[in-house]
Amino acid sequence: MLGLYLHIPFCSSICNYCNFNRGLFDGPLKARYVTALQDEILRAGRGEPVDTIYFGGGTPSLLEPGEISVLIGACRSVFDVTPDAEVTLETNPETASVPRLAGFREAGVNRLSFGVQSFQDSELAKLGRVHSSARARAAVAEARSAGFDNVSLDLMMWLPGQSVDDWLANVRALVDVRPEHVSFYLLELYPNAPLREEMARAGWSLAPDEDAAAMYLEGLSILDAAGYGQYEISNACVPNRASRHNMKYWTDGEWHGFGCGAHSTRHGVRWHNVSSTSEYVDRLTARASPMAERRRMTAAECVEEAMFTGLRLTRGVDVEAIGRRYAVDVWQRFGAGLTPFVEQGVLRREGPRIWLSREGMLVANEVMQVFV
Ligand code: SF4
Repeated sequence: MLGLYLHIPFCSSICNYCNFNRGLFDGPLKARYVTALQDEILRAGRGEPVDTIYFGGGTPSLLEPGEISVLIGACRSVFDVTPDAEVTLETNPETASVPRLAGFREAGVNRLSFGVQSFQDSELAKLGRVHSSARARAAVAEARSAGFDNVSLDLMMWLPGQSVDDWLANVRALVDVRPEHVSFYLLELYPNAPLREEMARAGWSLAPDEDAAAMYLEGLSILDAAGYGQYEISNACVPNRASRHNMKYWTDGEWHGFGCGAHSTRHGVRWHNVSSTSEYVDRLTARASPMAERRRMTAAECVEEAMFTGLRLTRGVDVEAIGRRYAVDVWQRFGAGLTPFVEQGVLRREGPRIWLSREGMLVANEVMQVFV
């Protein structure tokens, strides 16, 4: 089924490592943006069945519950949103309170994804995050009080100056809070990230590669022992709480993105909107299309992408199913490149299915080179 992605590009401050499409909160621009977003949704819907809505950003929780309600209402009015649809709101712990989260729940949100990043205040300060670890814990408690039973936390790994023990303390702190879902990402520094300069000035360095590998594997062991099943390179959850929306990205699914810079993939066609918030609003206000680029994917690109994204999942991919879908012999096409990884134990192969071993996930980028 189709998933809907709604991009909210506003943040109360800009983190020093962030390369997302976002800008500083601006009240009047936000009001115009919500109207534009509503217009784009109302124009696009054709009654198709939808089972996920995902508010990403930026910081979507800077919107008022009434604005979230208007946007979900727009989705429901022009798409056939299933009664049990997963509706996720990315939430900054700093914006949380019981009344506010209850308002989001009332608006139709049933899953919160908190950007916690670390449970150590010194690490949060290095990242320029506005919340503290105490605020993150309080936000999860507030989510429970507001009735949420599907909460995800994001943690970032391999932070400047972070040791393996520091990271494992973060994972244990997360387990104590008992979210249903966890995402854990390596810090990736884009070329001009202000954090690079701060690292150079303060003399902070990244732990060596072998420590990063230990962080990943030992962190996952703690999650295993606590009942979280890894289902994707960077995601684990308690039973039946995988992100239904994100699974669409990893299973060759379809999604329609709304808002500035939002990407969409449907029926083998891929497009994205203009990334500038003000240009997006101006275009919608002038009844013009916000689309910046649109192109049909080639069959080869579709196969490569299905393999590339599907191998992120612990269950891997069924190469015969992908072959049938795109009328191609996948093993004939990529077998020569993949076989050495099978022989090294990085990739496992059983019947039509191949998947990365857990150690193989550490070298996933090398395996993925076979498809690009
Ligand atoms: S809150 Fe998120 S989107 Fe906003 S600047 Fe920080 S990392 Fe980027």
